Amino acid sequence: MSRVVLRYVPHTIRHVRDGGVTFEAFCVASGCDETSGPQDEQETAQDWCLRHTGRTGHDLFRRVATDHARVTRDE
Ligand SMILES: [Zn+2]
Repeated sequence: MSRVVLRYVPHTIRHVRDGGVTFEAFCVASGCDETSGPQDEQETAQDWCLRHTGRTGHDLFRRVATDHARVTRDE
């Protein structure tokens, strides 16, 4: 039988600028699967929404911003 020993080791999680931030918009209209795709700039994703509404009339979007975080062990 193996035994697992758990001990508390403090860690910290921080945003990592180098990993970048991405912005993406998803049209939530029924039956529409279109997305802006991941964009480096929030304005690019928003411009896609404006164009999509103009083209389709779909006017509601789910927006996602993603960053990167690194966990380090506290010394
Ligand atoms: Zn749509």
